[in-house]
Formats: sequence, C-alpha cells, structure tokens
Amino acid sequence: MSAIDGLPPLREVIAAHGLKAKKSLGQNFLLDLNLTARIARAAGDLSSADVLEVGPGPGGLTRGLLAEGARHVLAVEKDTRAMGALAEIAAFYPGRLEVVNADALKIDVEAHLTPPIKVVANLPYNVGTELLVRWLTPEHWPPFWQSLTLMFQKEVAERIVAKPGSKAYGRLAILAQWRTDPRVMMELPPEAFTPPPKVHSAVVHFVALPEPRFPAPAEGLQRLTATAFQQRRKMLRASLKGLHPEISDLLESVGIPPTARAEEIDVERFCALARALDESVSRLT
Ligand code: SAM
Repeated sequence: MSAIDGLPPLREVIAAHGLKAKKSLGQNFLLDLNLTARIARAAGDLSSADVLEVGPGPGGLTRGLLAEGARHVLAVEKDTRAMGALAEIAAFYPGRLEVVNADALKIDVEAHLTPPIKVVANLPYNVGTELLVRWLTPEHWPPFWQSLTLMFQKEVAERIVAKPGSKAYGRLAILAQWRTDPRVMMELPPEAFTPPPKVHSAVVHFVALPEPRFPAPAEGLQRLTATAFQQRRKMLRASLKGLHPEISDLLESVGIPPTARAEEIDVERFCALARALDESVSRLT
C-alpha cells in the first residue's frame, strides 16, 4: 500500500500494466506520491473545484489530486496502455474520476467539466507549451479555467516569469503576464522522474486575473509577439516591417522608439502596439 492511499505503489502498477515509458509520448513519470500530493497542493483548495488533468499516465498525479480532495477529476490521456491503471484509480474513488482516452490537443474538455475548473498537468514539454498558449489566448476573458498548475522544463518556467530586459523575456512572458499572475512554485531535479529527463523541471501556478492587465486583441498580440521575438536582436522597425507598411509611425504613436529591440518593451506597450496595429489594419481593409 502507498503512503497517500490504499492503492499499490506506482512501480507495481507500471509493472502490472506493462507501462514502460515511451519516448515518443514524452513519458517521464513521477513515482513519489508524496511529491505528487505536494504538486496537487500547489493548485490550492481542490475540494470545491473540478480538475482537468492532462496526461495522467499511470496516475501518480491523479492520485495526488484525489487524495488531496479534488471534487472531480477529468483525466485526458493519449496512451491507451494507461487505461487499465486509471480504471483502478476510478474504482477506488467512486464517482470522482472520469478518464478519457484522447489527444488533449484535439478534444473539447469543457463539456465534461463544471466550474470552477482548475487545470493541473505534467505534460510533455512541446504539448504543454502549445496548450498553455491556447489556454492564455482565448478571444474572451476570463477563460474556462480559474488556475493552471503546470510542470515545465525549468528554462521554460523562467521564460514565463521573465521581466523585460532579461534574456528569457519573450512571447511566453508577455502572454502569461498579460492575463495571469504566474509563479514558480517548486523546482524538481531530473531524478524525481522515471526515466529521468536531461533537464531540471519546475511547477508554475497561473491564476487567471478577472480582466487582462491591459486591453489587447488576443490573436493580434500573439502574432505580434511571435514576430517581434523571432529575431529578438533586431530593431523593431525591421523585425515588424512585414506587419504594417508604416510600422515606424505606428511604433512612435504608442511611445516605442522604432530603434528599440523587442526585449526592452514591457507588456503594457506590447498591448498598446497590438491595439494600434489592429485598429490601423481594420482601417486599411
Ligand atoms: N502525469 C504523469 C506523471 O506525472 O507521472 C505522466 C507524465 S508524462 C511527462 C506525460 C503524459 O502525457 C504521458 O502519460 C503521455 O502519454 C501523455 N501525453 C502525451 N501527449 C499527450 C496528448 N497530446 N494528449 C494527452 N496526453 C498526452
């Protein structure tokens, strides 16, 4: 029996269900249930929330979430091999765990969840970043979720909380800090995972602000920041020239020197520029 529930230890579960980690699915499992319970606690009080867990694998974090009192967990896992292990957890916590065997990039989860909703995940890093950008850039705000508690490579976590002027500052920092309050909650060494990845990891907790810090069109801000940081060492009048025929005038109209570089510009001024671009492009068309 394990430390946090009456289910077998994860090593036994993995052996019993033949869940040898697959590199193609980015599988690095957390086997220490005290640690997964700690990650669940980083998401705050779960007793009155539905939790969306993406990529439960053998269910270490799922068990942490349920043992910490999550009202209901929806677990979306692409790997069919994990279904047996997850069904055992669902049977141990009757009515509290729903498992869906699907690609999280392709399914609509909202129909399965009742607000307030918290998202908690230890995902492969490429899928995690893609989902994060989607969760941060819906057209309307507030989003369907109240908070996100996500594991990233430590270097990605640093990019999310980076401030202007630093090397790590870029699109992720702007999108995250525009509409949420992201915080690094804990760092994990490679040995916390089986098999160990090459890099250190960190858990980032994002609380959705009731309103974005500054008004801006979500799609426009995403396009602008992606373009501005593609060549981060270039002056903005050069890196953004494909976005507008009179980009220097537009930059000046929002108080950005056309010779400035993307990493010097704060979230407020990127939002002002995204608004000005949107307005000017709609006047041109
Ligand atoms: N949550 C487990 C843990 O902490 O031990 C597993 C973490 S492992 C890093 C990532 C999990 O995400 C794997 O179980 C993998 O099969 C799953 N996964 C990968 N891509 C996915 C996708 N597109 N949709 C849903 N699950 C995915």
